[in-house]
Amino acid sequence: MTRVIDGRAIAATLRARIAAEVADLVAETGVRPRLHVLLVGEDPASLAYVRTKEKMAREVGIDGRLERFPGTIGEARLVARIAELNADPAVHGILVQLPLPPQVRTSAVLEAIAPGKDVDGFHPLNAGRLATLSGPPPEDLLVPCTPRGCLLLLEEVLGRGGLCGKRALVLGRSTIVGRPMAALLLAHDATVTIAHSKSRELAEECRRAEILVAAVGRPGLVRGAWLSAGAVVVDVGINRIRAADGTSRLVGDVAFAEALGRVAAITPVPGGVGPMTVACLLDNTLRACRARLAAEGRGSRWPRRSSS
Ligand code: NAD
Repeated sequence: MTRVIDGRAIAATLRARIAAEVADLVAETGVRPRLHVLLVGEDPASLAYVRTKEKMAREVGIDGRLERFPGTIGEARLVARIAELNADPAVHGILVQLPLPPQVRTSAVLEAIAPGKDVDGFHPLNAGRLATLSGPPPEDLLVPCTPRGCLLLLEEVLGRGGLCGKRALVLGRSTIVGRPMAALLLAHDATVTIAHSKSRELAEECRRAEILVAAVGRPGLVRGAWLSAGAVVVDVGINRIRAADGTSRLVGDVAFAEALGRVAAITPVPGGVGPMTVACLLDNTLRACRARLAAEGRGSRWPRRSSS
């Protein structure tokens, strides 16, 4: 019997905890965490993502603000705006929605964000801290939201400490998902393999895995027969496929129907990793706010909880 991991429910529990902590923080310090989201251009998918982030932020008591820029904006203007937000003490988290138009270098924009406000965890300083961890991340480290959400789902199934010594395969080596995911698994003592577009014998690699995180962006790439009985599968992929009748639906990187009944647990798409990503963004905003207040000598107590 396969457990279908309910990412919506687990994310709702996390958001409820964040809402309670935000309320405590506001009561204690008078400071409300603020998340500033910058969106460049008119991409409908990006607009939908940032609207969800803004709405979810509001629901947990975080002051989420969206600032939009034309798709023709120059890199210097965007970087200058980020510098203003870095200097604004009322702003605790800054997120630039990706992708950016070709005239703007993503690396220049991500490196312009103050590491302490980098709630996506993509700044090289935060990425470097994650890559050099010798144990679970500390509370003040801003870890990329999707991999952290995946880790929380894995801990939900395997228990805290349940990753120790497990053979984990990460499919995909992007800086947004695959690499930080591998670093987090390693920090939790899993035995980690990363596979990518140039890897050989993917099916064999998958069969060996007790934990599989698929972050590729290829619908149904991972077949049921590739999965070992008892594996825990986290499917990060979001792929829209169109049927002949013109309708469309979202599917993951794993052939879900084939995996059911074979593996121990699997996340669905949608309703698995996606809601966790947004919840972890809100948690990072709260962490960034707390770290800032602690640096100012205010509200320095971290609530006791999981550091994963
Ligand atoms: P990416 O395109 O940056 O990276 C894809 C990776 O897959 C690359 O490292 C590439 O080497 C690897 N790859 C490509 N073809 C492969 C193959 N045939 N076999 C093995 N590896 C292969 O993508 P990304 O930003 O890492 O995102 C991956 C997927 O996750 C996408 O579907 C994206 O939409 C989704 N995503 C979901 C969330 C979420 O919150 N649920 C967040 C981020 C990304």
